Amino acid sequence: MSDRMHPIPFEALLDWVLGELRAEGSVFGIKKFYRAPEGAGQPWMGRRPETAVGPAAGPHTQLAQNIVAGYLCGARVFELKTVQILDGEDLTVSKPCILAEDEGYNCEWSTELTVPQARDEYVKAWFLLHVLAKELGLGRADGFAFNMSVGYDLAGIQSPKVDGFLEDMKNAARTEQFRECAEVLRRRLGDFTRFGPEDLAAISPNICNSVTISTMHGCPPSETEGIALYLLEQKRLNLLLKCNPTLVGYDDARRILDALGFTYLRFERESFDHDLQYADAIPMLRRIRGRAAELGLYFGVKLTNTFHVKADRGELPDENIYMSGRPLLPLSLRVAARIGRDFGGALPMSYCGGADAKNIAALRGAGLFPVTVCTELLKPGGYGKLTAMAAALEGLETAGTAPDADALDALSKSLCGPARDDPAVRRAPRPEAPDVRADCRVVCGVCASVCSNRANAVITVEGRKRMLHLDGLCNECGNCASFCAEKRAPYLEKLTVFTSAEALNDSRNAGFAPLPGGRFLLRWDGAVREAGPEDADVPVEVRAAMVAVRDRYPWLLYD
Ligand code: SF4
Ligand code: SF4
Repeated sequence: MSDRMHPIPFEALLDWVLGELRAEGSVFGIKKFYRAPEGAGQPWMGRRPETAVGPAAGPHTQLAQNIVAGYLCGARVFELKTVQILDGEDLTVSKPCILAEDEGYNCEWSTELTVPQARDEYVKAWFLLHVLAKELGLGRADGFAFNMSVGYDLAGIQSPKVDGFLEDMKNAARTEQFRECAEVLRRRLGDFTRFGPEDLAAISPNICNSVTISTMHGCPPSETEGIALYLLEQKRLNLLLKCNPTLVGYDDARRILDALGFTYLRFERESFDHDLQYADAIPMLRRIRGRAAELGLYFGVKLTNTFHVKADRGELPDENIYMSGRPLLPLSLRVAARIGRDFGGALPMSYCGGADAKNIAALRGAGLFPVTVCTELLKPGGYGKLTAMAAALEGLETAGTAPDADALDALSKSLCGPARDDPAVRRAPRPEAPDVRADCRVVCGVCASVCSNRANAVITVEGRKRMLHLDGLCNECGNCASFCAEKRAPYLEKLTVFTSAEALNDSRNAGFAPLPGGRFLLRWDGAVREAGPEDADVPVEVRAAMVAVRDRYPWLLYD
């Protein structure tokens, strides 16, 4: 299989959404949709998201369908996956790149798409969210906010590629993708019962009016400040500056994590020494805040980025990896409390680091807004966990947005439970000889729920559930292999649906791709040949899957 994702054209996405909705009552496998309470919402950078929660820049905001899945489950704030000058095939990401058994680790960083592809995914998602909000009655057309994320240095951000992205997201009407989405929807208005021409006409081309700065670990303060001032002064964007947890200081970080039992996390004093120092951060933040105020723009911090550790236990193939999830929580909150105290609550804070359904109300109650999540959504339940988080936040719309340092300090001491007794890495090993014949003994669906890209799908074949892998959407992140109940690697071993013969030939997975005339290109037992459901020499379970996909789930064969 290929570790490259293939974005789905807008009309095919629409066919998928509408087809699955009518036939299964679900969208990308999600059945339970979150409806925002009437009138919900809180002002934020000129927008009014209906909930204070959403996915952080990462795997959940990379493809259009990921953003749709998040929205359906209750997300209303989307920090779009980071773009930078290095993109597409020029960007090397070791695979697997995600491990989220307990605390999260990753070695993925910015979007694996090209920058124009990423822009197009965000435009497609923007349209689809407007359609679904109205058509399914899930919320207001202006009830969600997209926030860009850019990195990693000023020269890259000023490059024509990234600059074009920033301008396109401020005014997407100048993009071909925006025109295509509008045209497709105009032509397909008859497919909707509630979404009408006036709703289509009201979709704003101003997809983003804000940006989060993501800098590399070790980025000099002058560079960070230069980027911030450029985005404020030249791009006129509301701004969040993502800070690293290293602001807590090496000794404090070690002490906090050791006290909780995370003694196995290895990180070096040197990476703290090379990062922005707290003493430099505060005056810098004051200067940026002052300039933003002069320009009438919003400025806040995003706390925090991931935490750089060493992959001593073979967590992922890279030596240097980035930790997230619950041990990040006490570090991020400690930084938040310190900055909150120094600014007297006057510096807004967006939060990311170990949030979940149990603690999100407390985080929000302490003045953090919004709260974004990633690691939690990579665990069983996946996007569905956003629903409980959104529900936990209901009624807190009037909670303040001035961070309360005392409350944050108290939370930092209480919210992260102890490390596991046995912190061994449990990922299912990458199989030497994938077992492609074995269907799941019980189709538990966990691999579908944990996949941010919706690249594993449970379908019904002759009255029985069957797990299929969808090649075009998978980037081999490896997350589903961590959670498979049968200790398999679903993305390598499950019967795979390819959308083209070329994609099948690019892979070693067993599976099939559509050919003209209702036939398929089949790989089975390592051999590739033309085949069809009527061929008696094709295994019966494969024939049944071909028929089911062709007749009942045709959107999986999008062109
Ligand atoms: S199918 Fe598995 S490996 Fe592929 S993107 Fe989804 S979780 Fe990652
Ligand atoms: S592949 Fe594994 S996780 Fe997926 S449905 Fe089968 S047993 Fe469950």
